[in-house]
Parts: sequence; C-alpha cells; structure tokens
Amino acid sequence: MALDERALFTEKPETRPGRYQCPKCRRTGDYSIRWVRRSKKDRLPAGADERDRAKFAKLRDYLFRVDDEVTCKTCGKKFEIPSQHSLMFVDQLAGLPNEEELEREINVASGEPEPAPDRKPALPARFTRKSSGWK
Ligand SMILES: [Zn+2]
Repeated sequence: MALDERALFTEKPETRPGRYQCPKCRRTGDYSIRWVRRSKKDRLPAGADERDRAKFAKLRDYLFRVDDEVTCKTCGKKFEIPSQHSLMFVDQLAGLPNEEELEREINVASGEPEPAPDRKPALPARFTRKSSGWK
C-alpha cells in the first residue's frame, strides 16, 4: 500500500511576507501571503512499505502557497502571484538572505536586470571611497 504524501508530513499554516509587482499599475507592494508548511515526520507511519521508505528518505520540508492572487494596494486590481513562487523548500530558504531573494524576484518579474535605483550601496563607504564619481 502506497502512502499519500500527506501521511508523511505534518502541516502547519503560516503567513509570510511577499513582495509582488502589480501588472496593471506596475507598483510593487508588500503582501501577507498564506502558506502551508509541510514538515517531514520523525518516523514513517505504520503500514509503510519499501517504496514509501525510499520516498520518505528523499523528502524535504517545504512550503506551498495557498493564496493564488492578491489585491493591489495601489489600484485595487486583483492579480495573480507568479506561479513559480508557489513552492519553496525550507532548506533553500535557510540558505538565502531574504532580501536578496526578493530583489531577484522583483527583477525577474519586471524584466530588469539592474538593481533598483534607490537601493543602498552594499559595501561600507571605506570600500567605495576610491570612486571619485560618488557624492
Ligand atoms: Zn495596481
């Protein structure tokens, strides 16, 4: 008997901040998005067979998004959250600084490879002093 994936995880609802750009007015806003965190159980449930065992060994904790759309805070239009952001592995989350991830997603969403112009310099002033163009 193959077990359903749900039997191998414990589920917990979670709200996470998300930054998305409205396709209509092009404004980027911060939204509270509902997710479910699936954490791998400590042990296999009763009734697990060999295939379940192999599957269980490869499982990683992950989050999947519950909300599909948000309502733009600026123009009030509902828009879909890009579907590539609907699943995140928890170990990936831990390895990435949150702000960098957001920055990247915004750039991908808007098709602009350049960082936002209002972004603060990443390096302390002593590393950038050489550049005479700085004011
Ligand atoms: Zn909008």
